[in-house]
Amino acid sequence: MIVAEQKPLEEIKSLIADAEKVLVVGCGTCVTVCFAGGEKEAGILASSLRMSTKLDGAPKEVTQVTVQRQCEWEYIDAIKDQINDVDIVVSLGCGIGVQAIAERYPKAVVVPGLNTSFLGLPTEQGVWEERCVACGECILGLTGGICPIARCAKQLLNGPCGGSQNGVCEINPDTPCAWQLIYDKLASQNRLHLIMDIQPPKNWSTSRDGGPRKITREDLRLAAEASE
Ligand code: SF4
Ligand code: SF4
Repeated sequence: MIVAEQKPLEEIKSLIADAEKVLVVGCGTCVTVCFAGGEKEAGILASSLRMSTKLDGAPKEVTQVTVQRQCEWEYIDAIKDQINDVDIVVSLGCGIGVQAIAERYPKAVVVPGLNTSFLGLPTEQGVWEERCVACGECILGLTGGICPIARCAKQLLNGPCGGSQNGVCEINPDTPCAWQLIYDKLASQNRLHLIMDIQPPKNWSTSRDGGPRKITREDLRLAAEASE
């Protein structure tokens, strides 16, 4: 899932600046699961903004609403009246949700209430760890399901660097060496042959290095056209 953290209240207040009517929009998907921008967090932020701006002597009218997903038109279309009724929207969606609202409502001023952090996994209560950087060419089938792009600080493709010590990464002693994890996993499955072949340099054009990416599924487009 997409993992995010809420921005400090003072930063959100500075983004709102002089706007008087504010709508906080939560999202019911990833950011709800990571306790950053769901219905509960939207309610708390709206209350905090009301209270804090009142204490500052410049109270604002702050309302809130949470949609199931900010990254789909149909859900943000459903809050059209609320968006059009305010001076500014504080999105508690990830960066995609913020941009989706801004794109769908070109006249609306939309600001982010979260810092979108990474694609990750809750590994224990209150802990999220990065697991994927969406490189566009997944190699998990060769690495025992452990991603060296996301989990190795040097994104190495052919085994560990010389700094791996006792299973720990030399960059961060709190992090296991991804290649130690890969080796141990494959060894436990008798599949070490998978890492004996040298991997060629990665084609980063499928990643962010090739600019904004786009996937077009002609089958889905044709099916949509046929149903119109
Ligand atoms: S190899 Fe690429 S797509 Fe697969 S998990 Fe790693 S970063 Fe994500
Ligand atoms: S110690 Fe392991 S995880 Fe850390 S940079 Fe080297 S190979 Fe990557």
